Amino acid sequence: MDDIKLLIDLHLSADRQGPGGEAPTRRAIELSGLLNRRSLKIADVGCGTGASTLVLAQALDAHIVAVDFLPEFLDVLKSRASRAGVADRIETLNASMDALPIEPSSLDAIWSEGAIYNMGFENGVRQWRELLKPGGILAVSELTWLTDQRPAELEAHWQEQYAEVGTASSKMAVLERNGYTPIGYFTLDEACWLDAYYRPMQQRFPDFLARHGSSAPAQAVVAAEVLEIDLYERHRAFVSYGYYLARKTDDPV
Ligand code: SAH
Repeated sequence: MDDIKLLIDLHLSADRQGPGGEAPTRRAIELSGLLNRRSLKIADVGCGTGASTLVLAQALDAHIVAVDFLPEFLDVLKSRASRAGVADRIETLNASMDALPIEPSSLDAIWSEGAIYNMGFENGVRQWRELLKPGGILAVSELTWLTDQRPAELEAHWQEQYAEVGTASSKMAVLERNGYTPIGYFTLDEACWLDAYYRPMQQRFPDFLARHGSSAPAQAVVAAEVLEIDLYERHRAFVSYGYYLARKTDDPV
């Protein structure tokens, strides 16, 4: 079984596929200024099994296009949406985030929790800007350094995994130079990593390994997660996800 199939199998039954939680999604919705608006059109990009999609559908008067390149995740999202009574507000779209088949200037907001790194933060915010209406909102969470200096071990790991990891000020600068005004920022707390993401994943390891006869590739998937969890636990003061809210600015004249 190839690695992507293994990753799907490890993450398919999870409530979420990255750090986060209902409270931060609701906080971002408040900061977005969209709460009193009607008939919104929003894309949730890299939605996974729909953790943020369901909150958006419940909190906002919106039609939501839930995008992921893994149809397995979208199938789970659809049944969760039905159970939550919001299926009529959500349309799934199996597409890659770097080639979204969405009409330019058609979206009131683009949401993306823990996913934009797959195409790189700057590349993502630049490409997605085209899809937003004038004044449209971007809401993304992204791996962020919490301090100016970090332990070398932590820095080396994340530099290797995601070279664009940076401080909040560096991410704000990326937003500004790509035609956005930052309008809100906060960081995810430890519960978003440990209680909502890593602990449930750890509980899935034994069954996951058993399902795959403890194959070498399955063990490698678990080992990579164990390493990441250990690093987070020891260095949580230095790294988290930042949640960035930004408004598309007018094109310069
Ligand atoms: N937003 C969800 C999932 C985060 S994990 C949550 O917070 O729980 C990142 C998600 O991005 C996964 O669901 C993965 O399938 C998706 N993804 C990764 N690369 C992608 C790409 N190129 N295009 C679309 N989705 C992608």
